[in-house]
Amino acid sequence: MLILGLESSCDETAAALVTGDRRVLAHRLAGQEAAHAPFGGVVPEIAARAHVEAMEPLIAAALADAGVSLADVDAVAATAGPGLIGGVMVGLVTGKALAHAAGKPLVAVNHLEGHALSPRLADPDLSYPYLLLLVSGGHCQLLLVEGVGAYRRLATTIDDAVGEAFDKTAKLLGLGYPGGPAVERLASAGDARAVPLPRPLKGAAEPHFSFAGLKSAVARAVGQHAPADIAASFQLAVVECLIDRTRRALAVAGPVQALVVAGGVAANGAVRGTLEALAGEHGIRFVAPPSWLCTDNAAMIAWAGCERFAAGLTDPLDTPARARWPLDPDAGAVRGAGV
Ligand code: ATP
Ligand code: MG
Ligand code: FE
Repeated sequence: MLILGLESSCDETAAALVTGDRRVLAHRLAGQEAAHAPFGGVVPEIAARAHVEAMEPLIAAALADAGVSLADVDAVAATAGPGLIGGVMVGLVTGKALAHAAGKPLVAVNHLEGHALSPRLADPDLSYPYLLLLVSGGHCQLLLVEGVGAYRRLATTIDDAVGEAFDKTAKLLGLGYPGGPAVERLASAGDARAVPLPRPLKGAAEPHFSFAGLKSAVARAVGQHAPADIAASFQLAVVECLIDRTRRALAVAGPVQALVVAGGVAANGAVRGTLEALAGEHGIRFVAPPSWLCTDNAAMIAWAGCERFAAGLTDPLDTPARARWPLDPDAGAVRGAGV
């Protein structure tokens, strides 16, 4: 099985070719950091235009890298949401056009499902069910992954996403965009106990998250403490919240095969290290994709396409692009953002 995957939901344009036996034959990615940097965040209209320019050459390059043509693929998988609607439409419409022209099925992939299944591309031994901490630019959720298309959300953030908290902290510290990697680098030179910061919802019975109060506390600390100490203290506070909430979820989730982390913030070394220790405490495996597979890419979309195609799940060409698209059917029941 060979799947072409396309991704364009935020500020990365990407195309990849992945096989059903987990070989990434090609993955191409064009970031837009330079275009958005002057604005301190992603500007939707600039992103959509950049996706239009980048998408076709990236697909051609990925096909050339893999030494295959469109006739060789079994299906075209494209992100159909959630994300910035203009960008999502570029990838989805391109995917539909290619599928139609080549007479191949379309697989409309939920971007979050791409993140959620990416650990199975990295690790052939990861089986269901697993507890997934999904930490990205727009989301912070704990999901029980029971199979392809079977996601039960145990927790979400009631305000900011965790990647958003990293990005806002970076902005407050003048570190530019995107902020996560910059905060992590600066944190390595700081004292994580120097700045007293809150641990929102730590110890709460429900395993939900909150990061807005932490961000406000960082804003108050700016100018009072050294930037490296703020970065280190912020990162420690985030890690302690993630661990506390994940421990709570492990207690209520029932037996799982593994503790898994995915999404852009999963690239963070402190987050990975602490979760690995927590998995060790519980005597379960810990799985984290390599960093390049944590941040947005098309290999995870192609892989989710493989999993869905193998399960017989393809989509009609009139499938809509969706700005909002929760992974689990009960998502509306949970208060707040992050769905
Ligand atoms: P979503 O997947 O929720 O739609 P997104 O696609 O924009 O959002 P990702 O690409 O998965 O998000 O992740 C990007 C986020 O990850 C950004 O907020 C970025 O700051 C954060 N991030 C990336 N690397 C690191 C790191 N090393 N430490 C902390 N955060 C990081
Ligand atoms: Mg990005
Ligand atoms: Fe993402």
